[in-house]
Amino acid sequence: MHALPTKLPTRALFWDIDGTLLVTGRAGMMAWERAFAAFTGGRAFPTVRPDGLTDHQIAAWLLGNPSPYETPGEEEQRAVASLVARYEVELAGALPLRQGRVLDNVRPVLEWLREASPGMLSWLVTGNTLAGGTAKLRHYGLSEFFRSGPLADTDHAEALPLAGSFSSRVEPRANIVRRALQMAQARLPGLRASEALVIGDTPHDIEGAHAIGVPVLAVATNTHTREELAAHGPWMVAEVLPNAGAFARTVRSGHKG
Ligand SMILES: [Mg+2]
Repeated sequence: MHALPTKLPTRALFWDIDGTLLVTGRAGMMAWERAFAAFTGGRAFPTVRPDGLTDHQIAAWLLGNPSPYETPGEEEQRAVASLVARYEVELAGALPLRQGRVLDNVRPVLEWLREASPGMLSWLVTGNTLAGGTAKLRHYGLSEFFRSGPLADTDHAEALPLAGSFSSRVEPRANIVRRALQMAQARLPGLRASEALVIGDTPHDIEGAHAIGVPVLAVATNTHTREELAAHGPWMVAEVLPNAGAFARTVRSGHKG
């Protein structure tokens, strides 16, 4: 157990994608099923999948690792990387086949951040791979809010990678948050963990953030209820992402209110 992090006025936002910014109508699941079938020559897809795994953890689990929460050896990492690459190809084809959506208040909040709070870092911190996350955000029209380059560079903006920290191998989810915090500290010298804020929808998001001292705004917009999320001690739990005005107060707040 870790002590629950304190929250100071936020200088760096770390956004989860699935169930927090958007839902894909299970396009991701369709992509995993297709990738798994191609990769294994048609083996039956497991009916139950652990919730809240990173993409590389999902692949490791599909390949038979029963508890892919730690860092395995290089041989397993290579097999996982192959399956993940196939998933990324299938995902691009699956996204248009399913009806997903951007979740409530997300776009107005991202617009507020861009227009009224340009000094605040607003990055993706996600168990998606860079290619998978990019495909999802482009499909749902949110990639413009997370470009890693200067806003002035509009000619090639679509080609810029998204800003943030992604799954790149089988590893504990907290490593992804730790990398984000280190990158953010390089941009904002002196940034403390309590000045970052993870926004996520699963207990794994909360635990991964708490492991390195980052407070969490948990949103019950996907499969987990407020009560389930509250049991993990996030700084705040909301039914949906607060609207732009309430979100502004939330990030500026340094006290539980
Ligand atoms: Mg999520």
